[in-house]
Amino acid sequence: MKRWNGWGNEEILYPVPEAARAFLADALGPPQAAPTAGWAEMLATAPASRLPAHPLIDTSPAARLRHARGHSLPDWAALRFGVIPHFPDGVAYPSDEAQTAELLAWACAHDIRLIPYGGGSSVVGHITPTGDEGPVLTVDMTRQAQLHQLDETSRLATFGAGVSGPHLEAQLRARGYTLGHFPQSFEYSTLGGWIATRSSGQQSLFFGRIEDLFAGGRLLAPAGVLDLPPLPASAAGPDLRQLVLGSEGRLGILTTATMRVQSLPAREDFHAIFFPDWLSGVAAVREMAQAHLPLSMLRLSDPVETATTLILAGHARLIGLAERLLRTQGVDAGKCWLMLGLTGAEASVKQARRAALDIAARQRGVHTGRLLGKEWRKSRFRTPYLRNTLWEEGYAVDTMETALPWAAVPAAHAAITAALRTALAPLGERAHAFAHLSHLYADGASIYSTVLFRIAPTLAETLDRWQRLKDAASAAIVAHGGTISHQHGVGRDHLPWLAAEKGALGLQALATLTRAFDPEGRMNPGKLVGSG
Ligand SMILES: Cc1cc2nc3c(=O)[nH]c(=O)nc-3n(C[C@H](O)[C@H](O)[C@H](O)COP(=O)(O)OP(=O)(O)OC[C@H]3O[C@@H](n4cnc5c(N)ncnc54)[C@H](O)[C@@H]3O)c2cc1C
Repeated sequence: MKRWNGWGNEEILYPVPEAARAFLADALGPPQAAPTAGWAEMLATAPASRLPAHPLIDTSPAARLRHARGHSLPDWAALRFGVIPHFPDGVAYPSDEAQTAELLAWACAHDIRLIPYGGGSSVVGHITPTGDEGPVLTVDMTRQAQLHQLDETSRLATFGAGVSGPHLEAQLRARGYTLGHFPQSFEYSTLGGWIATRSSGQQSLFFGRIEDLFAGGRLLAPAGVLDLPPLPASAAGPDLRQLVLGSEGRLGILTTATMRVQSLPAREDFHAIFFPDWLSGVAAVREMAQAHLPLSMLRLSDPVETATTLILAGHARLIGLAERLLRTQGVDAGKCWLMLGLTGAEASVKQARRAALDIAARQRGVHTGRLLGKEWRKSRFRTPYLRNTLWEEGYAVDTMETALPWAAVPAAHAAITAALRTALAPLGERAHAFAHLSHLYADGASIYSTVLFRIAPTLAETLDRWQRLKDAASAAIVAHGGTISHQHGVGRDHLPWLAAEKGALGLQALATLTRAFDPEGRMNPGKLVGSG
């Protein structure tokens, strides 16, 4: 069963290794006991539903609690401290497009707000009722999970938008295909959620971001139906698919999506390379990205992330061995770990491997083979489970991400991590911050930062710590000209920084767009463009 107040399946545990416990106590100070509100206690806090009865709607406190919050830090804190100010008033699980259309029409007739819901894995407050919007119906799309059509000639697959990552891949793999979209939330996030948030998978370098994969679909909006035919390209004015990508449930509900799929790759390997320092690593990955090598993943950790990951991984013996070997080759303190993914036909994997290792060697990178890559692959969707146990130990974890042109990357990386490390100093608290580059492009890269800090005794103090960190990192991102989000979206949490990227006219255009699809403002109000 899916956890109601944390990440993933209740049966999967990821204990904090002993060495990591000591490391964190040293870096952040001894943790304080973390609060954990109980399920029954939380159910009792659900207010009465304000919805009229409808046969497709579940107004039980259990269904409403399970859909009340996503996975942002404020979401986690609210669930764990047991303070949920706003619940959705009901949850519907339409099993096809006709039921979705019926619910939409019913909600419009009764002046009810709708929150489209996929896997609920949003990390920026997309699916959280704001409390200002009146009665709210959450529309859980996960029963629309079928592969409707596979056009093998065109390599186009049409799915119900509520299909989760594993179910989508299983249906394609059975026919010899893959979408290749693997966000770390893969186990629970859905196709509709990926499209509505402009998500990026771990192997986007080879398979593309979701906007490269989304060929067409159908969106039900209060103002009508938008059909997006799966055209390979079109010069017929602006591409309306781009309106749906990143629409965050503000325009309507995506019921089906046609995706560009590929045949299963013949070969896939992950290799580890260690660079003696950050700037050598950055120079190497930039050259690899600009050489357009057919790689599927480049993920370069900075020195603090490298050290922290190696400790949290808990394979002390294996890692000790690798570190001794690296020292003999001049890679020691300050080392940076690159995880290199190779995907494709045998010959192209071989060729790309050789070219990438040549570039790495020119920057004094030491190739340690595939062993760490195999371990990474095994735990690629397990790492988020550590967030559960860290919380229980008294530590909160959050992530912040941006993308910028290469010329701005080194300074932005330094500024963001410095901002995170010092943001809690006025409170006498420390923060442990690190980052990696992933999702590399010829012209730039995303910087993905992680911060750990101690949970405070109260919800208000914990949120204050988080807000200081968020403000400091976001200000550094904006000051360096970065986007406020490379892959997580805007939701509620990034709204204050959106104007820096879109400008006044851009924001006005977005507000006008939402009104065209949803004149009465019924779709997911308060997200992406505020309540305008
Ligand atoms: C542990 C963890 C790891 C993550 N890793 C990644 C990662 O590697 N890459 C990445 O890009 N993101 C990542 N995320 C963020 C999150 O998983 C993505 O934003 C994901 O795309 C959300 O999908 P979902 O189905 O869970 O959507 P939800 O969280 O349910 O909804 C997100 C938004 O999409 C809208 N929406 C959902 N379905 C529809 C629909 N059918 N029609 C219209 N609107 C819809 C909702 O209204 C909401 O605004 C991670 C999150 C977590 C918790």
